[in-house]
Amino acid sequence: MAFENLSERIQKALRNLTGKGKISEDDINSASREIRLALLEADVNFKVVKDFIKKIKQEALGKEVQESLNPGQQVIKIVNDELTKMMGESAVSLNKSKHIPTIIMMVGLQGTGKTTTVGKLANRLMQKEKARPLLIAGDIYRPAAVDQLEQIGDQLKVPVYSEKNQKDVAQIVQDGLRQADKNKNDYVIIDTAGRLEIDEPLMEELERVKEVAQPDNILLVVDAMTGQAATDVAKGFDSRLDITGVILTKLDGDTRGGAALSIRAVTGKPIIYTGQGEKLTDLEQFYPDRMASRILGMGDMLTLIEKAQQDYDAKKAEEVAEKMKENTFDFNDFVDQIEQVEKMGPLDQLMKMIPGMANNPQLKNVNFDKKQIVYVKAIISSMTKEERENPELLNPSRRRRIAAGSGRPVVEVNRMIKQFKQARDMMSKITKGNFKGMDNLPGM
Ligand code: GDP
Repeated sequence: MAFENLSERIQKALRNLTGKGKISEDDINSASREIRLALLEADVNFKVVKDFIKKIKQEALGKEVQESLNPGQQVIKIVNDELTKMMGESAVSLNKSKHIPTIIMMVGLQGTGKTTTVGKLANRLMQKEKARPLLIAGDIYRPAAVDQLEQIGDQLKVPVYSEKNQKDVAQIVQDGLRQADKNKNDYVIIDTAGRLEIDEPLMEELERVKEVAQPDNILLVVDAMTGQAATDVAKGFDSRLDITGVILTKLDGDTRGGAALSIRAVTGKPIIYTGQGEKLTDLEQFYPDRMASRILGMGDMLTLIEKAQQDYDAKKAEEVAEKMKENTFDFNDFVDQIEQVEKMGPLDQLMKMIPGMANNPQLKNVNFDKKQIVYVKAIISSMTKEERENPELLNPSRRRRIAAGSGRPVVEVNRMIKQFKQARDMMSKITKGNFKGMDNLPGM
């Protein structure tokens, strides 16, 4: 999981501050030192770290923090806000053309996931906007690249434009665009060649493609696993092509986080999407604020809710979000959620998106036992309709009846109900963006 070490270390540094009635300059200095080391070890650009620490110190030593009732939490909020700013403040969307098609040119080094990401992006646009994209196979040097794109096209039922014997990529792109006009495609996504390193012939070719295509978006695909090197690559491509945004792939791998944290600050260009796996559905919008709260262990409920949205109707997900906020989430919703979550993917990954869970040491060695879910469902299905809707009704005699009905021990029933209530309260606080709830979170 990305950012695990960074997250752990920053949280540790901040934990020493929470609960203190007063914070001294020494406290701030030592927390800053820890955070600085953690960021450098996560491979964040040196200058970005320096600026970041300077701002944190400035603000944390400010009068308002010193005089506030809970200075520790104030400092956490400052770190959260500055981390968010470092990654760009708010989410950035693709540029849309006034006339169809909107043209997206994808660039990047070989092996970063460019061709796969062309497919992921097409899939995302089809899902979110019912788009009708055309893909252009412009990577004619890597022999398998055209076949790979065609396979992706087959899988998604999306047309792929290619010319097997053409050596002039700009010509292929021009012909492909003509085809898109004829077919009235609303998006064109152009795959381009990659090399192991930035070199002059590659840049010249990409400049020619840019000239011909006049793209609305030039998206650079970079591999998060390469850390700060990804930032250098971004600088190199940007200086020649004036990219419009970055897609950071392989964020599901064991990344230290340096690329995600430095790219915006170093290049001024936003990360628009992140790749979080090899499947064509594994592309997510990048939200700096959510990423910051994930790093600080405040979880990422919103991403979780969005992931759920992909699988079932938006209205339902909105209702759930609203219920979490209003604290009226009941056992029916809970079972619903369990079933949705089971569809969404490996539970240990999902758990880490839940506030307070990311660095929960108990989670490290947990093997998610599918049986547990079956038991939880059995317990809930032994409740009456009223009990499911109103967990407050569950007095000891009702609990004993439920235990007998589900064949589970009373202690297990009690534990499940307690955990449900705790989770519900936590979700309510988090979805309201309430920092005051944080002192109740494990690990904070
Ligand atoms: P290209 O040379 O840049 O076109 O790279 P490819 O699209 O062929 O991808 C290279 C490898 O990276 C493939 O094995 C992909 O499945 C894998 N890959 C791409 N994106 C991701 C991602 O977000 N996460 C993971 N784990 N693997 C990815």
